[in-house]
Parts: sequence; C-alpha cells; structure tokens
Amino acid sequence: MACTHRIGHGYDLHRLEPCAPNGNGRPFVLGGIRFEHDRGPVAHSDGDVLMHAVTDAILGAIGAPDIGQLFPDTAPENDGRDSRVFLEEAARRMRAAGWEIGNMDMTVICERPKLGARKQEVVQNLAHILGVPAEDLNLKGKTHERVDAVGEGRAVEAHVSVLLTRAK
Ligand code: MG
Repeated sequence: MACTHRIGHGYDLHRLEPCAPNGNGRPFVLGGIRFEHDRGPVAHSDGDVLMHAVTDAILGAIGAPDIGQLFPDTAPENDGRDSRVFLEEAARRMRAAGWEIGNMDMTVICERPKLGARKQEVVQNLAHILGVPAEDLNLKGKTHERVDAVGEGRAVEAHVSVLLTRAK
C-alpha cells in the first residue's frame, strides 16, 4: 500500500561575518524577513539559512534532489538570489507529486539576533509562500550557550522537520 505520509528533514548552516564594508556578510535574512544585525551570512545566494533548511526538508520528503543539486552555488544566476525562489520550486515539486504539508517544525540556532518578537512574522511569511495556514508551522529560536562557532556568533544554523500528507 502506498504510504499516506512522508517525513522530511532539512538542515543548514551559514558562516556569519561582519556586513559590508567590514566583511563579506550579506544582510541577515531569516525565512524571508530581514533582521538588523552587524553580522550576516556568507553565501552565494542571499544566505537565508531557514529558507534553505525548509526547502531541503520538503525536497527530502518527496525524494527529490537537494537544494545544492537544483541550485548550484557555482551558477551565476544564483548569486545573491532570493531564496524564496528555491522554496517555491520545492513547493511546486511537492504539489506536482501529489503531496501537501501536514505540519512543519523549525528550529533556528544563533546567539543574535533574537528571534523572539518577530517569530510570528517569519512564520506568516513562510506560510504565505507555501500557501498553508500559519498554525501548521512552528518556529523555535535557541542559542548555542556561547560555545562553538554558533555560540560565538560566527555561524547560524537551522533544523526543520516536515510531515507531508496526500493532497486532497
Ligand atoms: Mg544554505
């Protein structure tokens, strides 16, 4: 019997550097929402670590190639690219394969900036892009207790679990 659910896991990390002109950090964007921070991700695309992990979770759940295979960081067209494009492609493939999102749980790990007050804004934006109710998505923010690269503010990390159900 064909399965009725598919689980997917996405993970991403980006190194953080001071923003230009003091370093190579791009503006700090999470789930398509811009945060004020003196450091930002070093990346070929816009470096949206959460959008990348969500994209890979969905692609993984349907057994599609991963984000790096679909959008190579050597391709000039992906330079500085809005990661929304990657997520929209993953969602398109998911729907084409006959699946829809049941729920998704996301964790972002960084010392700063604090997600706190803006978590709902991030969730709303992702829900809008995916065309799902915001209550199907959950976002948690954690620190890395000031140890290792993430804890020292030199990287930001995201983990995502998604459960897909057969589209009605
Ligand atoms: Mg990435």
